[in-house]
Amino acid sequence: MAKILCVLYPDPVDGYPPRYARDEIPTITTYANGQTAPTPMGALGFKPGELVGCVSGALGLRNYLERGGHELIVISDKDGPNSEFERLLPDAEVVISQPFWPAYLTADRITKAKNLKVALTAGIGSDHVDLAAAARANITVAEVTGSNSISVAEHVVMMALSLVRNYLPAHQTAIDGGWNIADCVSRSYDIEGLHFGTIGAGRIGLAVLRRLKPFGLHLHYTQRHRLDSTIENELNLTFHSDVQSLIKTVDIINLQIPLYPSTENLLDEAVLAQMKRGTYLINCARGKLVERDALVRALKSGHIAGYAGDVWFPQPASPEHPWRTMPFNGMTPHMSGTSLSAQARYAAGTLEILQSYFEGTRIREEYLIVDSGNLAGTGAHSYELG
Ligand code: NDP
Repeated sequence: MAKILCVLYPDPVDGYPPRYARDEIPTITTYANGQTAPTPMGALGFKPGELVGCVSGALGLRNYLERGGHELIVISDKDGPNSEFERLLPDAEVVISQPFWPAYLTADRITKAKNLKVALTAGIGSDHVDLAAAARANITVAEVTGSNSISVAEHVVMMALSLVRNYLPAHQTAIDGGWNIADCVSRSYDIEGLHFGTIGAGRIGLAVLRRLKPFGLHLHYTQRHRLDSTIENELNLTFHSDVQSLIKTVDIINLQIPLYPSTENLLDEAVLAQMKRGTYLINCARGKLVERDALVRALKSGHIAGYAGDVWFPQPASPEHPWRTMPFNGMTPHMSGTSLSAQARYAAGTLEILQSYFEGTRIREEYLIVDSGNLAGTGAHSYELG
């Protein structure tokens, strides 16, 4: 019998919705790169489209795990030495956490997690785990690669339009009973004809480029490996061999690379200063990729025209976090990858990974981040151990 410690975000403040806005969600079976969506054995423990990402939803795992004789403990109290997470960690064989509400598995915590065999990310992005420490402790780290890539890509497109068109302030004017059109439009532009560049054109970054193509933008990207020329030609992409070249050229920048030691603070004061005046920034990758206070200064001075994203550090962000109130921001709490549609896929993927683990079959290669003491699968391409 294994103890599974699952850390999820808290339930809705006013309780579960008595009725969902929609009765069903589309079934997605294959992703753009040909990868199949999760295929767990047997029935799911939830109806796709239900809220399962919070504590009471338990990712729909309870029946499967308890039928197998395992103990599932679901908590949200995760931070600090007196948290339930720290108290329960030493007995856990599997820890499940989400990037939206990350249970930080630091090297110190990994030392205390004497029984830990698997750290599973219900979603994408395992930077909340000290991967080098996990590798040393022979812990398998896995995530549900692909499960919410399109969810995030849609959020990025929404944020690009919202920032440039000045949607959120104009919406606030409507709510407040106002009608001063000049106020609404004095920062409002079309995105058509602007130059858009993504730092990282992987699953999400490329999906963003594909979705923006019909808007008539000039599309740019940079990453370490160049995309296939058929994709570059199809989207009329301009490749930049480094970040500096891209950021000096474009009007809207999307950050879509993983966080690992050498990408922390990638956009620092000096890099922000090299961007064109009036650049918009979008970051639905990780908060630590951007130097927090340098960004606030760049927005206040007017050098950066707007910043939107849904990733912060730490998470949850404190009520005083300066990104909540800095000018021209379109921040959301970390929610792009946990729409009800995304939850259905990453909860099914979490079940699939647990089934592989408990039934002794190999976890899908694309889900692996660390295995057998080293980076593996997707992790070998996406991360550095530092
Ligand atoms: P992928 O691995 O598919 O793509 C990441 C891309 O970044 C790769 O194509 C890689 O290309 C490029 N890259 C990596 N390091 C660098 C670097 N140092 N400089 C330039 N390019 C680099 O990941 P996804 O698209 O699936 O996800 C990207 C990130 O988005 C995740 O790591 C995660 O942090 C975040 N995310 C956020 C979510 C949310 O809810 N907000 C949900 C899902 C993911 P190359 O190797 O050629 O450099």
